[in-house]
Amino acid sequence: MARTPPVVRSIKELRKTVQGWRRRGKTVALVPTMGALHAGHLSLIELARKNAGRVVVSIFVNPTQFGPNEDFDAYPRTEPRDLELLTRAKADLLYAPSVHTMYPDEFATRVDVLGLTARLEGASRPQHFAGVTTVVAKLFMQSLPDMAVFGEKDYQQLLVVKRMVRDLDFPIRIIAGPTLRESDGLAMSSRNAYLTPTERAVAPRLNAVLQDVARELSARRPINEAVYLGRDWLEGAGLRVDYLEVRDAETLSPLDGYITSPARLLAAVFLGRVRLIDNVPILPAHG
Ligand code: AMP
Repeated sequence: MARTPPVVRSIKELRKTVQGWRRRGKTVALVPTMGALHAGHLSLIELARKNAGRVVVSIFVNPTQFGPNEDFDAYPRTEPRDLELLTRAKADLLYAPSVHTMYPDEFATRVDVLGLTARLEGASRPQHFAGVTTVVAKLFMQSLPDMAVFGEKDYQQLLVVKRMVRDLDFPIRIIAGPTLRESDGLAMSSRNAYLTPTERAVAPRLNAVLQDVARELSARRPINEAVYLGRDWLEGAGLRVDYLEVRDAETLSPLDGYITSPARLLAAVFLGRVRLIDNVPILPAHG
């Protein structure tokens, strides 16, 4: 029988536990989440377990990364079920602080990565990444892990966190986990729970179109043409395009012409009131 991990809500207790592990020579991985756990999160925990002796999972629905008209209040909060999943996934500790622990009265500091956060998600969701980097910096300082695991599902977030870690000299290794998908290709997401059955049936078109566009690009179709086609396919399927862009896989700089180096195709679409994001690699054509 797997052991239910202890649930810790204070910074002091978190640090005490992590320090105890360290004294016994264990390395520590942090997996930050907002809860409503699914198999995608669990795959990151498995990756953490392969790389570290102890795994801390944090669950914190971070108010500062939600815009005023976004779903902070509606965001699913399912801690008892999450704890069951964490038990099965053999996490060593659940850190679930309150909003007041993370943002005490008179909290006044913001960690903000510039440039990389201006486009894509950042253009549609101003302040979002500053909220993410501020809370991730706090989680890092609170838990002092050797490494932290993030999903490629949120590809821009992964690069922004890596940039912050380099710029602020956090001695923490960032490990990227691949996107886990439903059998029809839909990227797993806590927000998929918002989809009506009709929307759920259409949602896999997002990944299908991304795969098709990536294939066109690898077969030397010019970027502007392929993106134009992709927009058409998405809108034709009933997905309203927020953005569909081809970017350098490392810097997220815009690209034009043909794919000649590793690139990423990233998209956000609205399906009814639900906003879905996804991304896929684009391999340069050979020859
Ligand atoms: P969230 O709870 O949505 O903030 O996500 C927590 C972490 O899980 C982030 O690093 C996400 O990128 C990652 N994640 C979310 N969905 C998936 C997925 N389908 N596959 C792999 N990782 C994911």
